[in-house]
Amino acid sequence: MSKEAVMLSQNLNPYVQSLLKDDYDLVTMPQGGPAALGDKAADIKAVVAFGGFSAAQMDELPNLEIVTCPGVGYDGIDTAHAAERGIVVTHTPNVLNDEVADTAVALMLNTVRRFYAAETWLREGRWENEGGFPLSPFSVKGRKVGLYGLGRIGLEIASRLEPFKVEIAYHTRSPKKGVDYAYHPTLASLAEAVDTLICIVPKTPETHKVVNAEILSALGPKGILINVGRGWSVDEDALIAALEAGTIGGAGLDVFYDEPHVPEKLLAFDNVSLLPHVASASVPTRQGMAQLVADNLKGWFAEKRPVTPVPETPVPLKG
Ligand code: NDP
Repeated sequence: MSKEAVMLSQNLNPYVQSLLKDDYDLVTMPQGGPAALGDKAADIKAVVAFGGFSAAQMDELPNLEIVTCPGVGYDGIDTAHAAERGIVVTHTPNVLNDEVADTAVALMLNTVRRFYAAETWLREGRWENEGGFPLSPFSVKGRKVGLYGLGRIGLEIASRLEPFKVEIAYHTRSPKKGVDYAYHPTLASLAEAVDTLICIVPKTPETHKVVNAEILSALGPKGILINVGRGWSVDEDALIAALEAGTIGGAGLDVFYDEPHVPEKLLAFDNVSLLPHVASASVPTRQGMAQLVADNLKGWFAEKRPVTPVPETPVPLKG
């Protein structure tokens, strides 16, 4: 039996390829896009898309059935167009919750206690030559932490925060059932109530630059912003202005508005901790995500049953 043809986007974790190579006819997307495959484009039934897949790219593949995204955030994939064409989109929820939640907590500790600057102090020989690193102005103990987003990952972050002797509150569009943390119906009300804001919401039209000057100012001069969701949610100019004016106390960011570009001004603050979008980037977790990509393809081609389709695209009912 001939193998199904699967197109892989560039810059994909090589582990994905190693999991799929025996079962599928793998093709790497050319620089010129799917159309550059010529006649082969008509054979492609599945795409593994890292970083997004547009409507135009889908339309260059006339027999496309499924787009699998090796990540939980699938904002780069035009799901509305996929739904119109009857193409199923899948993502990789849950398998990365622990890794991303660990990163969020690490980033919070790093930022509040300025461990990055302290390590730089040691590495530059300043401990030996100049003495101890200056005391960090803030502590984690006693903080009031607000979660903007309390979904799969937000809940894991919250459960990790409980032993830290902090108060926990959250904002989502509707209160989460079975959760005792204080609910705020608006982000503004959450920001007024807390001094540490952790963002873990998806990129949607409603979450665009909502962490603005007003929200940052509400956090106050001891305020800390942590973002492990999407850079899209934070107004970076407002953040830089708040850091310059000292209206907030620091920020820890894993994600940026225009990745991989990071504004020059952010690099200059010693009360800011910056990571290059690595929240889920460990070998075990990325392998788990790759396995889920493989399981989705297998489920689709075996019985039109992907494991983790996104809610926006249709999955035909069996039988
Ligand atoms: P979930 O869908 O499980 O949770 C999303 C949460 O955001 C829910 O609590 C939802 O609550 C809330 N939310 C969505 N829209 C709004 C809104 N307009 N206003 C307020 N709250 C909102 O997603 P995950 O927890 O699995 O992942 C969250 C996001 O994190 C991903 O979409 C991805 O973009 C990002 N991410 C980043 C990673 C990184 O490497 N830095 C790694 C993994 C994920 P409700 O619907 O009630 O509003």
